[in-house]
Amino acid sequence: MTPLQLEGLKRKLETSQKDLCASLQNLGSIPVKRTPDLTDAADPAGKRDIAMWSLDSNSVRLKLVKQALSRATDGTYGCCLNCDEQISLTRLAALPHAILCVTCPQEEDLGRNLNFPKEAMSV
Ligand SMILES: [Zn+2]
Repeated sequence: MTPLQLEGLKRKLETSQKDLCASLQNLGSIPVKRTPDLTDAADPAGKRDIAMWSLDSNSVRLKLVKQALSRATDGTYGCCLNCDEQISLTRLAALPHAILCVTCPQEEDLGRNLNFPKEAMSV
């Protein structure tokens, strides 16, 4: 990976970080309507469920983006956390916060024992 490619990916990560932070702040303002009518309550509950799912998903993604930016700073960005192989530029371009190469997630799906640090996956 050239320094120019790394800079491009860092810019993508920084943009993602800003977008995710903004998205998470917006979710904090979702109104919770109290109503005695259960039919009226169904819709706000559905919106809350979607908001909570989105909050979880965006929180995980934000954590991965922050970790990727940290790895870009310490020089380990782009290395698979499981096998230490270089993650392909194609994969990083599509998923700049990727922590595993294209082979390792497939191994994880099969339930094989991976040896990457547990804190990397505790997101
Ligand atoms: Zn790997």
